[in-house]
Amino acid sequence: MLILILAIVSLYILDRANKVALIHSRISQLQVFTLTLIKSDNDFFDLDVYNVNYFKTRTSTALELRDSMNKRIQAEIRAVRQQTRNKGYEVDINLDAIDSTLSVYNDKFVALEALVYRKGFKDDGMEGKMRWHAHKLEEESAGPGLVNVLFLRRHEKDFFLRHDTVYRNTFNRAAVKVMRDMARFHGDSTEARTHMLEYQRLFNELVNIQSQIGLSNKDGLRRELNELTSALSNQYFLLSEYSLRQSVQAQQNARLFYIAMLTGAVFFSLISGLWISRRLSEPIARLSSLVRMSIVHKKPGPIDFNVRHAANEINALTAAFNILMHQTNAQLKEIQSKSKLLKRKNRQLKKLNRELDNFLYSTAHDLRSPLTSLLGLINIMRYDNQQENLVVYFDMMEKSIQRSDAFIAQIVSFSKNKRLLIKPEQLDLYQLVEEVFEGHSFPAGNGRLTREIVIQEVTPFYSDRNRVTILLNNLISNAIRYSDPGKEQSYIKLFLTVNELEATVEVRDNGIGIGPEHIDKIFDMFYRASTDSKGSGLGLFVFHETLKRLKGQVRVTSTPGEGSSFFIILPNYYKTLEVPTASVTEKKALYEAS
Ligand code: ADP
Repeated sequence: MLILILAIVSLYILDRANKVALIHSRISQLQVFTLTLIKSDNDFFDLDVYNVNYFKTRTSTALELRDSMNKRIQAEIRAVRQQTRNKGYEVDINLDAIDSTLSVYNDKFVALEALVYRKGFKDDGMEGKMRWHAHKLEEESAGPGLVNVLFLRRHEKDFFLRHDTVYRNTFNRAAVKVMRDMARFHGDSTEARTHMLEYQRLFNELVNIQSQIGLSNKDGLRRELNELTSALSNQYFLLSEYSLRQSVQAQQNARLFYIAMLTGAVFFSLISGLWISRRLSEPIARLSSLVRMSIVHKKPGPIDFNVRHAANEINALTAAFNILMHQTNAQLKEIQSKSKLLKRKNRQLKKLNRELDNFLYSTAHDLRSPLTSLLGLINIMRYDNQQENLVVYFDMMEKSIQRSDAFIAQIVSFSKNKRLLIKPEQLDLYQLVEEVFEGHSFPAGNGRLTREIVIQEVTPFYSDRNRVTILLNNLISNAIRYSDPGKEQSYIKLFLTVNELEATVEVRDNGIGIGPEHIDKIFDMFYRASTDSKGSGLGLFVFHETLKRLKGQVRVTSTPGEGSSFFIILPNYYKTLEVPTASVTEKKALYEAS
């Protein structure tokens, strides 16, 4: 749109400059024609007044030229007017002045030419007639009267030679003398008298005509024509100067406009070039930074980014890049997750390897130690023949075997947990808890160690029986094992709550407690928190592995000398299985009855 407007304006300015230049050249042409006209008029005066041919035909080259110039002048004036009309040029006023001056000039010239023609030359016109009468007078005035006639002729010739009116007076005075001579020498020669009178009349009339024409350049019509020529010259000077000024101004305007347009175009092309290059480079820069982010920093960048106002090629590149980014991101994510998995597996493998080493060493050691004890006891029994000591030795042997059995039982539990799939079933928690306590030959009614069991089963609890048994077994056996012998009253409290989502179990005791430095490690394989520990250090490890299989969680709080609390959360598989359930109240009644 802007370019269209600029093109129209530039065409207008160019057109105006051309028109003004054309008007100027036409005015110059007009000036040349007018000068030629004036020159032809001057030629007419300088040559044709003495040109017999002119007086015979009343035509001459100068007059023909002037006619043709006049026509061309009028045509030029019309053409200039045509171009300047209604266009806001002030040429018209000057042109009008020139036209009217020219018209007066022409009128004057026509009058002058008529006078010249009337005046005549040599044998033609008034001058011819006068000369004829003069010759006749000369012929008639032979003798003494001829002298004055010749004087008369002399005054006449002086006038035509010098164009001075003083010769009219001298001529007329001489004419009086001639008339007197005529009366004296020729009597009443009417013929000579007639010639004389005609000669005098015509001479005086010619003097009058010559006076009208102008005795010199500075009189009569010739003066007027000269003045008009000067006026024309001035008017042409003004007009020419004005049109030149206009032409220069128009050219300057055009030049200024083109310079401004050129500067604007250069500026515009620079700005638009910059703008376009920035627009083109922006998406490329964004693409590059995304590539850098994704490839160099190995961070998957945002994908599906849109590029607005980009060229088709860049849009295609962006689309291709988006596809590439999708693929790269997917691959990167896959690699990252696989590498995480690999690292985790590696850690697990290393841990498992360490545990296996420990396990092998400790198992061998722990399995051998009760056997060594047994061998030693058998040797002692072989040499000690005291019958009463045998019961003590058998007790010791039994404990050794029990330790070995408990240890092997832990390994079996561990192995079962690893091997067997989780088989959720509805658990009778009251019965399960009772069995666990019974399994530890909990001395019922023992005054020193009491137990408290609180079970809130809002929803039936579904889980893997074997694993839940392992968990409770370990917690309760530890609570019994690490009860504080120094305390008058030891207790084990078990709180069990079940809802649709999970079961929470807390086993709390007031036993010897665990030092804070051990809390983080008690779930490690073969870790014993105290040197007095009577176990293998395998129990809580098996407990933890089993809990992990059930996707449970544990939190331990313990204060040495005060007691410990193991709080676990187990997921309830109630929702995931459709197993027929016995009503909760029904089961509670059953438990209380037992
Ligand atoms: P252990 O067979 O020695 O009992 P565990 O793995 O069952 O091994 O327990 C690890 C250690 O944690 C034990 O040696 C013991 O020192 C400590 N421990 C576990 N339970 C309790 C508890 N209820 N009271 C005090 N100490 C405990």
